[in-house]
Amino acid sequence: MVESPVWRHLGKPLSRKVRTLANNPRQKNSNARRKLRNWLKSQGNPCALCGAPIDYDLPAGDPFSFEMDEIIPVSRYYLGGYATPEQCALDRDNVQATHRICNQRKGNAIIIHRDKGGDADRIPTSRDWGA
Ligand SMILES: [Zn+2]
Repeated sequence: MVESPVWRHLGKPLSRKVRTLANNPRQKNSNARRKLRNWLKSQGNPCALCGAPIDYDLPAGDPFSFEMDEIIPVSRYYLGGYATPEQCALDRDNVQATHRICNQRKGNAIIIHRDKGGDADRIPTSRDWGA
């Protein structure tokens, strides 16, 4: 039996906490996600779904507060041509600013904002998209 060098180094199997985090790409990279969110916020863009401005000072939870939306949901990372959920969760090109309420209405659909047109378009979800 070949022993994993990582395990030998740590001297013990990964803790339950580490294993839980490893299964959730959003939490696993929470620091990188926070940075991504701050970067998106600093862009000051209007809502990608309805086109109206976002009041970035509204408290989280307010229906019109800022939310970071993933164009390709992390759970369907492969649709965007990503090799792993982590790549999908941390790609600047895969996030857009939305109102909380617009994002909630959108649910798990894949919608991308067409520049300045103000209309949100449904895009094809073939594996080749965005490759
Ligand atoms: Zn909106």
